Amino acid sequence: NRHVIPRDHHPVSRREISDNALKVLHRLTSNGYDAYLVGGCIRDIYFDLHPKDFDVATNATPEQVRRLFRNSRVIGRRFKLVHVLFGREMIEVATFRASHDNTTQDTKHGRDKSHHSDSGRILRDNVYGTMEDDALRRDFTVNALYYDARDFTVVDFCNGVQDIEDEVLRLIGDPVTRYHEDPVRMLRALRFKAKLDFTIEPETADPIFELGYLLRDIPSARLFDEILKLLQSGNGVRTFELLQDYGLLKHLFPATHRCLETSSLETSSLETSSLETGSLETSSQETGDKYSEDLIFSALRSTDQRIAKDRPVTPAFLFAAFLWGPLQRQFRDLQEQGVPPVPAMQQAAMIVLDNQCAHTAIPKRFTMTIRDIWDLQYRLERRQPKQIDGLLAHPKFRAAYDFLVLREESGEQLNQAGQWWTEIQEHSDPSRNEMIRSLR
Ligand code: ATP
Ligand code: MG
Repeated sequence: NRHVIPRDHHPVSRREISDNALKVLHRLTSNGYDAYLVGGCIRDIYFDLHPKDFDVATNATPEQVRRLFRNSRVIGRRFKLVHVLFGREMIEVATFRASHDNTTQDTKHGRDKSHHSDSGRILRDNVYGTMEDDALRRDFTVNALYYDARDFTVVDFCNGVQDIEDEVLRLIGDPVTRYHEDPVRMLRALRFKAKLDFTIEPETADPIFELGYLLRDIPSARLFDEILKLLQSGNGVRTFELLQDYGLLKHLFPATHRCLETSSLETSSLETSSLETGSLETSSQETGDKYSEDLIFSALRSTDQRIAKDRPVTPAFLFAAFLWGPLQRQFRDLQEQGVPPVPAMQQAAMIVLDNQCAHTAIPKRFTMTIRDIWDLQYRLERRQPKQIDGLLAHPKFRAAYDFLVLREESGEQLNQAGQWWTEIQEHSDPSRNEMIRSLR
């Protein structure tokens, strides 16, 4: 099943490959090892996208690789890899691995139970294998193409080239088994669909609807990393829609999902009741649910736009938006239990963040920023004259202000507070003091 595609039949040109990656390939092959570029970089070149990093696969062991490159280090908890460093660029070199199920050298023992959890999840997969084993244990056929810099060929074991031409995402092997081995592959399927605008082939797509619950077994730190890749790689809006369509959102952000699920219901009942009472006022208690979906989409859109312009983004901002609805709900519940507003808001923030961290461990530096963004909202809305200077100087003012503007854009009525803060930042001292005076 090994197809070798000659140079004049594929688009992978050396001009698209980083010099450092070529150096690594050359050093390995001139020392008698096999070495290939593999995975996302080859897939991306097929699509005229510029690869953001280059991965090398080789039959040299990590120790052998380490010895060939002074500027390298062996890393890895789940499996050993070598990072070869060239200034700011890092080339990742991995030894060919096999999945426990299809090791060509060691099939007689069958499936090694000790390396799988009860649900079939792979707990350790650092068994070395042949190049073909290495291709078969990868996730999608389009991610299993190998570029050989010795003769400029592309090697394809899984019909990946055909799937690229057809724009189809297809898991290698039996999809249900592969999802059980590693449920994160479901998230990767949606991520690549959003990025490449592919169709997910039905046998690969269908099980996702049923197997989302498997994500609950994934260590929360890994899920957090994966969420960043999903939502902060420039296609956040599209990816979020896919997470909703495939029913995966509820396994990543359960509280957010509950808010979105009921927001449409509550919106309609809210409209009838305000018609009945003749009141058109929206109390701030309802806004959490009513606007939370719009807020999430605004936050995702603004993140996508910033990434398109190469501007920095922080996960704190997205998480603050995703959890804004749940925060309002929790706050309301605590107030109904008689907790006064200020402690109710603090407790609500703690509860909502703790619950979310159980699913996707948010590192502490981000939860602190999320809390700052939330804490500042109330104060930015109120605009207490004595607090204005302190707020403008607050280290998280900018993030909190952006968040306030987003809330207004999503339809929350905040008395033009966003506009006011926009203006005061544009003014310098005398007129700034004038603005503050006119608040009294
Ligand atoms: P990108 O870097 O653009 O997000 P990628 O395909 O390079 O996409 P990586 O996470 O960098 O994704 O992984 C590199 C390669 O490793 C993949 O192309 C795939 O072949 C393999 N791989 C990654 N994660 C898995 C997984 N969960 N199961 C099987 N193979 C995987
Ligand atoms: Mg990659």
